Amino acid sequence: MLLTISTTHQPATDLGYLLFKHPEKCQAFELSFGTAQVFYPEANETSCTAALVLDINPVDLARGKAGAKRQTLAAYVSDRPYAASSFLSVAISQVFRTAMTGRCAQKQDLADTPIPLVARIPVLPSRGREGFLRGLFEPLGYEVRVERLALDEAFPDWGNSSYFDVELTHTIKLCDLLSHLHVMIPVLDDDKHYYVNEDEIEKLLRHGEGWLSTHPLKEEITSRYLKRQRGLTRDALAQIAVEEVATETPEQATQEEIIEQRMSLNQQRMETVVATLKANGVQKIVDLGCGEGKLLKLLLKEPIFLEILGMDVTHKSLEYAQERVLDKLPTHQKGRLQLIQGSLNYRDARINGYDAATIIEVIEHMELDRLAAFERVLFEFAKPRIAIVTTPNVEYNVKFENLPPGKLRHPDHRFEWTRVEFQNWANAIADRYKYIVEFQPIGNIDPEVGAPTQMAVFAASV
Ligand code: SAH
Repeated sequence: MLLTISTTHQPATDLGYLLFKHPEKCQAFELSFGTAQVFYPEANETSCTAALVLDINPVDLARGKAGAKRQTLAAYVSDRPYAASSFLSVAISQVFRTAMTGRCAQKQDLADTPIPLVARIPVLPSRGREGFLRGLFEPLGYEVRVERLALDEAFPDWGNSSYFDVELTHTIKLCDLLSHLHVMIPVLDDDKHYYVNEDEIEKLLRHGEGWLSTHPLKEEITSRYLKRQRGLTRDALAQIAVEEVATETPEQATQEEIIEQRMSLNQQRMETVVATLKANGVQKIVDLGCGEGKLLKLLLKEPIFLEILGMDVTHKSLEYAQERVLDKLPTHQKGRLQLIQGSLNYRDARINGYDAATIIEVIEHMELDRLAAFERVLFEFAKPRIAIVTTPNVEYNVKFENLPPGKLRHPDHRFEWTRVEFQNWANAIADRYKYIVEFQPIGNIDPEVGAPTQMAVFAASV
């Protein structure tokens, strides 16, 4: 298997810095399934090419080492040693591990700069579909040159194979090119030689950060990357859908705070929620869409709340919550808080049995057509005694001086509702699932447009 990466960015030999592989050396790396070699067939001022050659022993493969499947003759004559597949994808991520992170101590500026790059994969399987191959790379800005390989050059009558000789050209950061290749190669091959579990979702999100959530084929990419496992694909897509929030750093989060002057509004919101929970005498609370754990932190300060569960769909938010809240608790308090990853759009027994559920500034991050699923998950299945939902009141947006007219408060908000819209939604739910709902404004109340945040408190009526 062969992959070459070339650049004409001058001095071209700087490619060696970016890849952490010296252009004058030929280096070998032992991997669990074979040997990878990196060398430079060409390395001068004006152009430089790095080659990754991967040798897999087909006999080892067939005999059960390195992910073989069946002990049949087919195992001995498979295409695995010759076609780009998950073996090459793993080799890329291992041999170019540091390059993929985008770090380069000696040439960080260069690593951060899009440079002209050409990747060539001489044997890339795509089940005979050139359109799919183009559909994967063209939306990412690549110029794609493909040549379909004959089944056997000596017998042109036999027609084409399902393999392509592919050249991808783009002015792009090297780390992005490597991430794209790492994800797309097994997607095209539609197989993986190893067992795929939840860890693979984390890898996909990491390598897909910044491009997968907006890719027109994101569903197909996700499904194939996860070896078409439905449950994993569903979880991954749920996380990808909120990627903008997921990748939101605390600094970016302050953008919404600036618009809302949220230091005080957020504080008021959280305090109102805590007071409502206390007034309802609850002890076990699940905070759904807990984000980085601001509410969890306040809840922990109240000894009457005995059991607290934080759930969020994104691992990033949970990492923040873990670092900022859970890890900071004294040992004897740690048992009160648990963090789990999960999506509010799917029924989940882990959120059953709580006195109260809080859904604070979360619903507006869901697509309207997913909201119906959320309603059933919460009110039909989890059925907490109390549910508190807050969301922006869009009428109030005219009061934010730094928010252009018609814009929502955060780029990931899928909608923001007026008071009537919110109340209609909540009343219909209360009717359907036998709850009594009351509304409360949070923040400064304007006589015309109301308060910036609106809260609905649902109490089970049976
Ligand atoms: N409740 C927190 C965070 C609000 S931001 C607070 O008030 O500070 C919205 C959060 O909802 C994000 O952390 C996002 O990851 C999460 N989220 C969005 N859609 C979700 C879904 N379908 N399931 C679970 N969490 C979701």
